[in-house]
Amino acid sequence: MHKSNCLLCGSPQIYSTEPANYTCSLCQAQFESEAACEQGHFICNTCHSSSANELIEAVCVHSTSKKPLEMAISLMNAPCISMHGPEHHFLVPAVLLAAYYNQTGDIKEKERKIKVARQRAGNVLGGFCGFYGACGAGVGTGIFISLITDSTPLSQETWGLANQMTAESLRCIGALGGPRCCKRDTFMALKTAKKFVKQKFQGYLDVPDSITCEFNEFNQECLEEKCPFHSRETL
Ligand SMILES: [Zn+2]
Ligand SMILES: [Zn+2]
Repeated sequence: MHKSNCLLCGSPQIYSTEPANYTCSLCQAQFESEAACEQGHFICNTCHSSSANELIEAVCVHSTSKKPLEMAISLMNAPCISMHGPEHHFLVPAVLLAAYYNQTGDIKEKERKIKVARQRAGNVLGGFCGFYGACGAGVGTGIFISLITDSTPLSQETWGLANQMTAESLRCIGALGGPRCCKRDTFMALKTAKKFVKQKFQGYLDVPDSITCEFNEFNQECLEEKCPFHSRETL
């Protein structure tokens, strides 16, 4: 997906020579702009450069996409999302919840759970991967399963599922070795969530089997050819 594609639906941007009136899809304020997406979505400059978690929440609440990886990559291209940073701990459950509830059509539930995911992900601090042995992208998949199953510490089967989800993500993320890469770990977490949801819930998450990372040039510690998402063409 190209950098300038719409954050909400993935459509290309359309540019006109005359500014027109648009309502920001996120804050609902009115603006004049020369650009909007093919579907008429427009995101104002203030929203686009808000804090990382603010943007992730607003985009995932308003998005109609059923494609978590596509949503993750377009968010990763926004200037407020760092190459590496704890916002990825929220990004993972947010795009999974958005895609999941955009499929079921329960939009109220989606909004409520994305807000809860943001609070929970806020407890998973930066550096958790190396210091606590629990990568936040992996924990994010556990937050996702906990929320879609309404799990609590007293739940039975769903308690097990949420913990198994995190375990499976961390197993796949850990198998690749470090140094940490929030892009690699996010891609692996999304792929693992797709498999888990299919296996345990007979559900579907639209995450492609083959993912090519477009962020490696920004990562000084990139594993390069040892990373399964590294683009071979750039070698
Ligand atoms: Zn759009
Ligand atoms: Zn706005």
